[in-house]
Amino acid sequence: MIEIQNNAAASSATSGYGPGEAPEWEYFFKCIHCGLCLNACPTYRELGFEMDSPRGRIYQIIQVERGRLPLGDSFVRHIDSCLDCRACETACPSGVEYGRLVESARAQINRYYQRPRIGRRVRRVFFEKLLPDRKSLDRLGTLLWLFQKSGIEPIVVKSGILKLFSKKLGRVAALSPRMEKPFFTERLGQVVTPEGEVRYRVAFFAGCIANLAFARLNDATVRVLVRNGCEVVIPEAQGCCGALHVHAGIRDRARELAKQNIRTFLDGDFDYVISNAAGCGSVLKEYPLLFEREEREFYERAREFSSKVRDVTEFLAGIDFNRNFGAIRARATYQDPCHLGHAQRIRSAPRQLMAAIPGLELVELKESEVCCGSAGIYNVVQNEMAERLLKAKMQRVDETGAELILTANPGCLLQLRAGVARSNRRRRVLHVIELLDEAYAGRDSSS
Ligand code: SF4
Ligand code: SF4
Repeated sequence: MIEIQNNAAASSATSGYGPGEAPEWEYFFKCIHCGLCLNACPTYRELGFEMDSPRGRIYQIIQVERGRLPLGDSFVRHIDSCLDCRACETACPSGVEYGRLVESARAQINRYYQRPRIGRRVRRVFFEKLLPDRKSLDRLGTLLWLFQKSGIEPIVVKSGILKLFSKKLGRVAALSPRMEKPFFTERLGQVVTPEGEVRYRVAFFAGCIANLAFARLNDATVRVLVRNGCEVVIPEAQGCCGALHVHAGIRDRARELAKQNIRTFLDGDFDYVISNAAGCGSVLKEYPLLFEREEREFYERAREFSSKVRDVTEFLAGIDFNRNFGAIRARATYQDPCHLGHAQRIRSAPRQLMAAIPGLELVELKESEVCCGSAGIYNVVQNEMAERLLKAKMQRVDETGAELILTANPGCLLQLRAGVARSNRRRRVLHVIELLDEAYAGRDSSS
């Protein structure tokens, strides 16, 4: 039985955290250690270890704060193994904002824990050089596209040569996204206007990797918004949202990216800023958290920006959306993305949109709120656990008999497509917005 003294006095000057954005007492004191979050936690469900549960992780966060546990290997291992899926927040009766806690713990790990050199280098290149730099991303995307088009890729994958280097590399290669030319990057700076009356003037947040690997999803999103009376502006100066940086504890870089996006989108004076990626939308809505303790002068602008951010499903379900759909006769099921369901608390909006499509039979997926294992780059860095979660998810999908798997986040699309590729059953995996786009096109072609 865990016993923790919840009082500020117990929070001593011998804290194991250094200066910076450490987990704060006012957030972890809310945990009453009831354990109601345990069975909602994917890692606890798989491993059954208290230390890999939300309650156990909060306990460790407090122990470091009290100076009773070093900010060392064991702490880092259990914090790293968390998906930051925030299912524990949904389950918690006490209002613990677990995302804040784990992201602060990771900020401390990022500052004060020395990871192995190779890991540090890979992180530096990925987070500092690649994600924030559109040109580098485009170059890498083009190389990957050539590799995928050349016909060499299936030979390399089938030969098992990657597994000679490491088993994990072989598995992770199967998760690599397909590059989609022309990249959506080419559309940055465009304004797309509807034929009739302009009901809303919205800005589309296009993402970073999504410009390359989900270019057709982004095209579809713009089309769907235009069909709903939106003038869609795709600001040129936008950039990576910083969600992966926040999850990895790299908060200084996340703040830089946030400031760039806040300036860009507020300058345009849009009605809404629309995202089709649950992970990006969630961090865009939480930009104020980045400026609570650092660079406070940006806090109010971050709040103003965040108040305009909408997930595309949330936006459409909140207006009198265009129901001029053609029929799609298929049995479908829906996986709730964690950062839509748990972080943004959006569950009914995508279901309302799907329910409006004639012919679509929607079968609820058992445990649709449990993470599929994608979680940003978790499926790459914690591949073994991600594989276990994907396997469990695909078993649940099999039970539905659905031929169509729907979700609302690019990362989940990738993970679920990898699951389908390994199974004997061919199924399509689509974003809800791609389905809407097809349904609109179906009506056009039948009229
Ligand atoms: S449900 Fe909430 S209060 Fe209970 S142990 Fe989990 S985090 Fe703590
Ligand atoms: S965020 Fe997800 S993986 Fe992490 S403790 Fe909460 S439920 Fe478990």
